[in-house]
Amino acid sequence: MRVAVLGAGVAGLVCAHRLTQAGHVCDVYERWPGLGGQAATVDVGDGHLLERYYHHLFTSDRHIAALYEELGMGDELQWRPSSMAFFVDGRQWPFTTPMDLLRFGPLSPVARVRMGLAVLLLQKRAKEVGPYEQITARAWIEWAMGRAPWEKIWGPLLRGKFGDRAEDISMAWLWGKLTLRRQLEGEEARQELLGYPAHSWQRLFEALRDAIQAGSGRVLVDRPAARVEGAGPYLVHAAAPGAFRTGHDPRAYAVDGPAERYDAVVATVPNDVFEGVLAPELAARVGEPYLDLLRGTEYHTALCLLLELDRRFSPFYWTNVADPELPFVGLVEHTNLVERERYDGRRFLYVANYLAPGDPLLDLSAQELVAAYEPGLRKVQPAFETGWIRERWLFREPAAQPIVTVGYHERIPPLQTGVPGLLLANTTQIYPEDRGTNYSVRLGEDAARELLASGVQARATAA
Ligand SMILES: Cc1cc2nc3c(=O)[nH]c(=O)nc-3n(C[C@H](O)[C@H](O)[C@H](O)COP(=O)(O)OP(=O)(O)OC[C@H]3O[C@@H](n4cnc5c(N)ncnc54)[C@H](O)[C@@H]3O)c2cc1C
Repeated sequence: MRVAVLGAGVAGLVCAHRLTQAGHVCDVYERWPGLGGQAATVDVGDGHLLERYYHHLFTSDRHIAALYEELGMGDELQWRPSSMAFFVDGRQWPFTTPMDLLRFGPLSPVARVRMGLAVLLLQKRAKEVGPYEQITARAWIEWAMGRAPWEKIWGPLLRGKFGDRAEDISMAWLWGKLTLRRQLEGEEARQELLGYPAHSWQRLFEALRDAIQAGSGRVLVDRPAARVEGAGPYLVHAAAPGAFRTGHDPRAYAVDGPAERYDAVVATVPNDVFEGVLAPELAARVGEPYLDLLRGTEYHTALCLLLELDRRFSPFYWTNVADPELPFVGLVEHTNLVERERYDGRRFLYVANYLAPGDPLLDLSAQELVAAYEPGLRKVQPAFETGWIRERWLFREPAAQPIVTVGYHERIPPLQTGVPGLLLANTTQIYPEDRGTNYSVRLGEDAARELLASGVQARATAA
């Protein structure tokens, strides 16, 4: 078969790699002028690569760890102790070890113990997501932990990630966050270990690209799909290089060059982009019920400011901001996880935000955002001044976070669109786990398996 894969993020590259291994030829079309999608890197100078959005792995991320091993790159994954804090009531409270919870001042001693026990019981006993699918995280937290943990901790955290949809977020999502990520045995019971590759995520993407190309496929970056038509064989129309500058809507891209024929198309792009690339006749074949599922998923945009600082901002790698007055939701000091010697002694801090589409912060330049964030940054670190900033980068990801409300699992679009050989595999289908590179590896593999099992025949090259 000749297969077009739309998107060179983790899911697209892994899917194309598996199909290549099965003897098929894949062309991967990618909008961005680089590999890796949401985990893509940027050159921060002197050849040092850093993810545009902060990234780490958990020890439970076995799909991606297995892929590293299989590619002969097991040594890339390095594990380091994490350090985490909550910013609440005007200060950073350490939140790395079980002892930190017992000393956590914003909650009464009784509330601390109750919250700790509730999490522990969930991790030990709640093996199935089913009982948590029809209840909101808020309802469960208030029932299992009491009101104060919701008001002081979980409510602000969920509002940070999901905005005014926080109250509607399914307990299934929180179940995934709390139960799947951490082992309770051994060293990790005391302090979590996080993984970060020795040479950023980029090496993995390059290895996958090389394997796809060794199988006669192509990985075409800065070459988005503008339109897909036909229905086996399919015609994929690509847009000209530079189209990414016009935004994410493929309907705005001018088609460049002749269309290419494929037996199958696997799209790993967000739901709205997928609908946008479908030619009207193909969309009609996909049908309204499936298109309604696509339209039913809401996303929040990640707005991520990456700062190079001339000194350490705080002692923690990860700070959850649970103070609603602050205009950002997290601080991720990368060089408090990965030693700064790797970057010739330079220090990097991500200021994290998730915002509903249309939020005015999304329109600001990096400089304007620094000005908007400065008072908040100073609340966390009173000595901070903008003179500490050596360099800044700003990234926006519109389809960064699907909003997982109660009953979400009933609204997930299946991998098979219903049109033979046309598949969709994107982050909205990762459930009940919170989306992440590990699960996009699994998703890419699932998509390849589904396509191979569907019995689609090679016709594009025969015609
Ligand atoms: C702020 C942030 C922090 C994160 N932190 C972590 C973390 O710590 N650990 C972790 O494991 N995961 C993390 N993630 C999540 C992780 O990056 C994603 O879940 C994963 O990379 C998604 O991979 P994907 O291939 O499914 O989708 P994507 O990476 O979104 O890939 C889709 C690809 O399609 C491309 N595309 C779009 N339109 C077109 C078109 N018309 N034609 C062709 N291509 C197109 C896009 O450019 C993109 O490359 C984070 C994400 C964000 C936003």
